[in-house]
Amino acid sequence: MKSTVLNILLTGGSGYIGSHTAVALTDAGHRIFIFDNYCNSSAETIHKIQAITAQPITVVRGDIRDTALLQQTLETHQIDAVIHFAGLKAVGESAVIPLDYYANNVQGTISLLQAMQAASHAPRALVFSSSATVYGDPQYLPIDEAHPTHATNPYGRTKLHIEEILADLARSDASWQIACLRYFNPVGAHASGLIGENPNGLPNNLMPFVAQVAIGKLKQLKVFGDDYDTPDGTGVRDYIHVLDLAEGHLAALNYLGSHAGMHTFNLGTGRGYSVLEMIRAFEAASGRTVPFTIAPRRPGDIASCYASTALASKALKWNASRDLKAMCESSWKFQQNVMQSVPSTTEQA
Ligand code: NAD
Ligand code: UDP
Repeated sequence: MKSTVLNILLTGGSGYIGSHTAVALTDAGHRIFIFDNYCNSSAETIHKIQAITAQPITVVRGDIRDTALLQQTLETHQIDAVIHFAGLKAVGESAVIPLDYYANNVQGTISLLQAMQAASHAPRALVFSSSATVYGDPQYLPIDEAHPTHATNPYGRTKLHIEEILADLARSDASWQIACLRYFNPVGAHASGLIGENPNGLPNNLMPFVAQVAIGKLKQLKVFGDDYDTPDGTGVRDYIHVLDLAEGHLAALNYLGSHAGMHTFNLGTGRGYSVLEMIRAFEAASGRTVPFTIAPRRPGDIASCYASTALASKALKWNASRDLKAMCESSWKFQQNVMQSVPSTTEQA
């Protein structure tokens, strides 16, 4: 990576985290290129990113397993760095169709790495979307990057496999500059309310579910367990504003400019909130009530999970700054926009 203005390719850039990162990188003056097959997003998001940034974005519609198309994209646009978001991410689904997860996530990443290796101008800077799920059930808190890894489902195993592949690659060739970012729980939306998290069907994750209950699309939330060893008995997670997360990618890219090899960082806030705290915060931000019932624990869930942020803070000079209120308010604004633009039938939880 030579220049300060970079040509950056975002695989999966029209998804939830990719779209917010596209905005953050454009705001920082970089040129953004998106490679996505829209299997979990749509071209509409590209228009929204362009509306927010007032900058055109070049989009290539394709599957990351199409190595030739990726190589051509890297060369045509003289891409300096790649941020690799593209992947399937539903934990439950990954246990039902594991081969699809390995093919899409692991094979897709190998295809991307091969394309980068084959590209004539040899781009070597890569930021990879990993997950705190690679830590499994925490042995201690807060979780630092040295914590042992242990995946408990096929989705998590794809992330671990990819991390191992990246580490082997970096060991084999010192010119690679790789940042592996282990995200904790991204929530919230851009302040414009134009982009955010809008899952297809019934949401798997807490906050989109809470938002859809608050707006009346879903009837009530099920709180999965109130008998954990936590202050109020419900699960505790490290929720991070998606814009803070997006800025973490910028910090990682800056770091790679002067650090070869593979580097792994947690991206979280270092603070945990319980499910009940999240419900109360969302009710305050939205002015709506979020009806809930206590349901049995969700299989595979853990009691508490939150990050040690010391390494990212020291090395990347990055810290999450947006609070829970900002997370809930932005997510509520986005949810209201979604309901206004797409009239939908009422589903029952
Ligand atoms: P998302 O589903 O909103 O975005 C992923 C994007 O990748 C989508 O636009 C999808 O169309 C695209 N995509 C998937 N497979 C593709 C393929 N084969 N070829 C081209 N495009 C493809 O997900 P997200 O929440 O933005 O997550 C981005 C990344 O971060 C994923 O790798 C995910 O595993 C990881 N991650 C997400 C979370 C989270 O809670 N959202 C937490 C930890 C890690
Ligand atoms: N959760 C819940 N009801 C839901 C979805 C999630 O009570 O409908 C809880 C879940 O048990 C966990 C927390 O909310 O304690 C965060 O869950 P999520 O799936 O968003 O993230 P993850 O478990 O992957 O960290």
